[in-house]
Amino acid sequence: MAQHPKVIGAMVDVAARMGTGAGGTRNIAGTNHPLVELERELADLHGKPAALLFTSGYVSNQTGIPTIAKLLPNCLILSDALNHNSMIEGVRQAGCDKQVWRHNDLAHLEELLKAADPARPKLIIFESLYSMDGDIAPIHAICDLADKYNAMTYVDEVHAVGMYGPRGGGVSEREGAAARIDVIEGTLAKAFGCLGGYITGSAELIDAVRSYAPGFIFTTALPPAICAAATAAIRHLKASQWERDRHQDRAARVKAVLNAAGLPVMPSSTHIVPVLIGDAEKCKMASDMLLADHGIYIQPINYPTVPRGEERLRITPSPYHDDVLIDQLAEALVEVWERLQLPKRRQQMAAE
Ligand SMILES: *Cc1c(COP(=O)(O)O)cnc(C)c1O
Repeated sequence: MAQHPKVIGAMVDVAARMGTGAGGTRNIAGTNHPLVELERELADLHGKPAALLFTSGYVSNQTGIPTIAKLLPNCLILSDALNHNSMIEGVRQAGCDKQVWRHNDLAHLEELLKAADPARPKLIIFESLYSMDGDIAPIHAICDLADKYNAMTYVDEVHAVGMYGPRGGGVSEREGAAARIDVIEGTLAKAFGCLGGYITGSAELIDAVRSYAPGFIFTTALPPAICAAATAAIRHLKASQWERDRHQDRAARVKAVLNAAGLPVMPSSTHIVPVLIGDAEKCKMASDMLLADHGIYIQPINYPTVPRGEERLRITPSPYHDDVLIDQLAEALVEVWERLQLPKRRQQMAAE
């Protein structure tokens, strides 16, 4: 959406009328009309009564999680093992007890919940769509456990907002689970193409975070032009299904073409297409060769972002990658695979 005429138009128009900066923190002159309008749009996107805007998705997790946890006496945080660094930092700053459950492992989560004092406040934090493997969390099943063991839920929808759900409300919207989640967090910087992060939830919870979060209170508000652009992007994707359909179609085609070429595409149920290399140096070399010799930019993903031995290229096709570009990508990858003598598809992957 960063290139969409409606989004660019909104940013230019508001910058021309209101200037480039907000001029202060939210509590001291920084709150502006486009910002308040954006918060209303975000609350509506997730079907929640209220939303709170931060300067980035990172900050929303890093300051939102500890603020919520510290307000709950003796809170226990249960955190998915593959949560993003911004959530890990948030948990660290909360300073309360935390337990890490094995990634998407409901049995392990239940084991930890069962062992905890039923009266103790608990906060389960996880992502809806994990961007390195392209897998999704079992949201309803996590909410079932939260109901059973009296826990709150906090989900990071950063890699899903705009891209999943009939209005772009993320995986929780697609699965009809948004109303079951206490806090839905997201970014305006990825699909929406702007900058900023947010949380949505009940009016009381949002008010509490607004009143206590240092990362909200002590920093300058987002510029009105950015807020207006983000609102334009959200509104467009609420109404238009074309981008989401085309995005999924393009990702499916990339997977099919790379699989047909014998490349080790890692299984993924989303728009993320990881291709296994399994060697950090070769991963970087493959990325460099693709750029230098084929004009294709794909980032190498190495440790610590993924475990050693699982180094990969992570391909994220957009709605605007046509068949010709995808075929060229496959040819370029095959050439690089041969030059670096990388393994083709593994036996068990070929069977899938
Ligand atoms: C990128 C990312 C963030 C941070 O969002 P920004 O708006 O870029 O700061 C948070 N969570 C996850 C899972 C991310 O991938």
